[in-house]
Amino acid sequence: MNDQQQWRDRYAGALMNTFGPPRLVLARGSGARVWDADGKEYLDLFGGIAVNALGHGHPALVRAVTEQLETLGHVSNFFATEPQVALAERLLALLGAEGRVFFTNSGTEANEAAFKLTRRTGRTHLVATEGAFHGRTMGALALTAKEAYRAPFEPLPGHVTFVPYGDSAALAAAVTDETAAVVLEPVQGEAGVVVPPHGYLTAAREACDAHGALLWLDEVQTGIGRTGTWFAHQNPALSEPVRADVVTLAKGLGGGIPIGACVGLGEAATLLEPGNHGTTFGGNPVACAAALAVLDTIEAEGLLEESARLGKLLADVVEEPEQVVSVDAAGLFVGAQLAADNAARVVAVAQERGFLLNNTGPGRLRFAPPLTLGEPDLQEFADAWAGILGAADQPTTEDA
Ligand code: PLP
Repeated sequence: MNDQQQWRDRYAGALMNTFGPPRLVLARGSGARVWDADGKEYLDLFGGIAVNALGHGHPALVRAVTEQLETLGHVSNFFATEPQVALAERLLALLGAEGRVFFTNSGTEANEAAFKLTRRTGRTHLVATEGAFHGRTMGALALTAKEAYRAPFEPLPGHVTFVPYGDSAALAAAVTDETAAVVLEPVQGEAGVVVPPHGYLTAAREACDAHGALLWLDEVQTGIGRTGTWFAHQNPALSEPVRADVVTLAKGLGGGIPIGACVGLGEAATLLEPGNHGTTFGGNPVACAAALAVLDTIEAEGLLEESARLGKLLADVVEEPEQVVSVDAAGLFVGAQLAADNAARVVAVAQERGFLLNNTGPGRLRFAPPLTLGEPDLQEFADAWAGILGAADQPTTEDA
């Protein structure tokens, strides 16, 4: 039995079966590459679900985490630490607005904090979008329309109206004087990189302003350079400049170290008061030092520009073969619609050939590689892509 199989068997015996069988047992990573337990190498075009902004094992991240852990590893929120304060200030500066930050350990927790913040407006109604994904805790799940995720856990916190994503008129019609907030992903991630029409975020802002509701942008997946700007709502290719009241972050922020943030801007900054919310680990100095290293490295290595530039090249590569019907892209965040509902097969063939991809639906693929992806990496994928799609089109013995 190979190492992969042994670890798979032990996984099956020891871990709750919430994710199904793992695709691979991965043992190490470097740059945009990972290796499995049997030593096979893969080019990672998935980035741990849009998390590994700096790739795997980036020296700046390793150094920051190591040095911080040697200095001070954890103190709880009875105390403040320098990395925590510095990171909050840095995020506010990048967002270009006055505000306050609440740190969490994940995206769903960032959204949970934001959900509670909206309740402090004195209103309870929320508007969310079909196809959205905001996380798996009960509050975040209440904002996620997908029936399969919700049904086993009903009743969820209520008073949520779902509207079709990208439809400004439907959104405006749903917002009332009872609405606490509209929650939107600037580009839908789990739906497979769905880019809304230009002007959608502005229309959402206007609908919120007309009724005194908060605009809450879930940038958990799109933030921290993924679309070629620090935040997707600052990306001129996606939107006019738009002011958010709440921005939630996670994924790329820690580059692989768990950290999330709920940022309240303007008046939303002070809605949560002492005793309203808390967390033991949120704002942990090691996680904050990691996030500061991610932000520094994105700046130092020009990774926003690289995300925009390489994203265009990746989109062109992905779109080329005839099996691809259309591509949505914003920086290194690329969604592809396939002619056939064989995305799972494409992912499997790609894996056999040494590329990690992700399918978000039967005919939909999502690419979210490290922002450090190099042109040679991209070229390697470009050389293999048509062959992967061709092989995925071939009937297998299972089809016989
Ligand atoms: N919000 C968005 C837009 C996401 O894409 C995700 C995760 O995919 C979440 C929230 C939940 O984040 P986490 O899995 O870190 O809880």
